[in-house]
Amino acid sequence: HENAEYVVSRIRSVPGFPKEGIIFRDFMPVLSDARALRLLLEGMQSALPVPADSFDTIAGLEARGFLFGPALAAHLGKGFLAIRKAGKLPPQTIGESYDLEYGTASVEVETNLVHPGERVLIVDDLIATGGTAKAAADLIVKAGGVVVGFSFVMELIGLDGLSHLGGLPTSSLVSMP
Ligand code: IMP
Repeated sequence: HENAEYVVSRIRSVPGFPKEGIIFRDFMPVLSDARALRLLLEGMQSALPVPADSFDTIAGLEARGFLFGPALAAHLGKGFLAIRKAGKLPPQTIGESYDLEYGTASVEVETNLVHPGERVLIVDDLIATGGTAKAAADLIVKAGGVVVGFSFVMELIGLDGLSHLGGLPTSSLVSMP
């Protein structure tokens, strides 16, 4: 508990970034602090939504899922699969589009890196509406994998994002408004 509080104390809240009305939760001070980083990874490991032997690979979302995902994967002896914004990965890729507040976005993965039936845990720093995580899950399925669950550092409360993930197991270490 004390440990969770220490990690939370390192998350910086920035009102008005990247635009007015938004409070940006900045995780970089967690990463830059040796103790907070270790506690965060231990916390994510002990809060896994499914047993570690029930998945093969961790998939992380660009950009901040690339910070915690590979570290957690290495901790657990898993591989890491990068889900990138469209246009960044060399062919062959497969993509999935999703709605943003204004417009749409799309994410991609390299098809040859997802093996048929591969069991994937999706990791990101933060879930708000759940749109990004849902698109990542749909993408993995489209590429032939199986999504076993989702692990987040933080859940924004009030948006009910975790309930938009198809009833799959989820975990988040911290909840904030
Ligand atoms: P969602 O699709 O609405 O759930 O938004 C989640 C995505 O937006 C994740 O990829 C987050 O990294 C990013 N995001 C939204 N708000 C924040 C924030 O306050 N801090 C860091 N990332 C955020």
